[in-house]
Amino acid sequence: MSNFTIVVHGGAGTILKKDMSPELEHAYSGVLQDALDSGYASLEKGGTAIDAVKAAIIVLEDNVLFNAGKGSVFTKKGVQEMDAAIMSGADLSAGAICGVRNVRNPIELAAEVMTNSNHVFLSGKGANDFAIQQGIKLEPDDYFFSQFRYDQWKAIRDSDTYSLDHTNHHLEELLRDRKFGTVGAVAMDAAGNIAAATSTGGMTNKKYGRIGDSPVIGAGTYANNKTCAISCTGHGEMFIRAVASYDVSCLMEYKGLSLQEAMHRVVNEKLVSMNGEGGMIGIDIHGNAAMVFNSAGMYRGLKSSKGENLVAIYK
Ligand code: ASP
Repeated sequence: MSNFTIVVHGGAGTILKKDMSPELEHAYSGVLQDALDSGYASLEKGGTAIDAVKAAIIVLEDNVLFNAGKGSVFTKKGVQEMDAAIMSGADLSAGAICGVRNVRNPIELAAEVMTNSNHVFLSGKGANDFAIQQGIKLEPDDYFFSQFRYDQWKAIRDSDTYSLDHTNHHLEELLRDRKFGTVGAVAMDAAGNIAAATSTGGMTNKKYGRIGDSPVIGAGTYANNKTCAISCTGHGEMFIRAVASYDVSCLMEYKGLSLQEAMHRVVNEKLVSMNGEGGMIGIDIHGNAAMVFNSAGMYRGLKSSKGENLVAIYK
């Protein structure tokens, strides 16, 4: 039997031990482990890398702690609009959706776009129509609500006019205290294929239909059996401009860098130089995995058929 591995993240940002209660830390670690177990179980049964990343992401989307599916952040208008993408390294097939509402598991919709449409990327109302047509599970607005995200939003929803007022310490603190709760997974299956998937509610108080990097193939999500599978989390605007995940792949393909070297270059040099806070998880076609971030913490974990099993939060 060949080896297989699943790696997950639950977002990066100002995640500090001093701000975290033991109970909350335990809860986050528990869900990350559940996501790893779910992805791993799929791989163990002979599932593909695509099956595994989907299975892991669904666990994270269904949990209110993460900014994806249930528990997604609020937009300026006070609703949840979600983005997701999935990509198969075996044939470069990909599916992505953005700005969808009421879809219980956005990653399922992205996968549906990949396998059952002639397209790669669907947005807003059209993506929602496709979800209904394909029988993808929907939920009422209430399902996505979380008090914690609501309070986060309430504190900054009127912040436009104040965002340059540096005397507003409360706001400054909030802006500094950034946590990107997006979820992602990358996997290598027993057949040696790799895949990547990312799902998010985007950024709190986003407006004008803002879309981040997560559903953009090559920015927040990318997979290619020649190189690697990558899922990102962080300040999406910078990750789009850096073409972050594809850049890692290019550094490996054209410059011969290892996965770890390529991810380090993009996250700790390129993104840092652009003020792009965040991180990414990756796996290469030999099953080497890496988790690199330039923020204080990143919810993350890895489980492999070689017996590795780890969950971590801080640097
Ligand atoms: N990258 C996501 C976005 O910009 C946010 C996150 O990682 O939490 O939409």
